[in-house]
Amino acid sequence: MTEQSQSQQSSPLTVKEFQEKIHDGEIEGYVCRKCGHKQIDIIQYCPVCHSPDLEKTNFSGKGKVLTYTIEFVAPEPFMNEVPYVWAIVQLDDGPKITGWIQFISKPSDLPVGQRVAFKKSYLPGIVFEKIV
Ligand SMILES: [Zn+2]
Repeated sequence: MTEQSQSQQSSPLTVKEFQEKIHDGEIEGYVCRKCGHKQIDIIQYCPVCHSPDLEKTNFSGKGKVLTYTIEFVAPEPFMNEVPYVWAIVQLDDGPKITGWIQFISKPSDLPVGQRVAFKKSYLPGIVFEKIV
């Protein structure tokens, strides 16, 4: 190990850290310092340009619904939340992210393009709610 190998890279996000942030109401991810690619994931290299020069950043959690599926039969952690949707949300200032939205039973409850915001919650996963 030489002193030259000293990296400027921020320490990689762990799954535990990411989940704790979500619990605290923050969505943390990375911006690639080389190409600007944004990603919410546990990564050590940019998937676009393969640079290890990643910067941790917080995303706003606001965005719009791109697509979703309505769930009527849920796995145990979500049993009391049906019906709900698994949605792909395009964040205003970040990448696409998967999350869920409670109490949606039909497509007219959630038009594609609906504005949503990440909501701090005791529930598992990344919870969004409709906003105006
Ligand atoms: Zn990159």
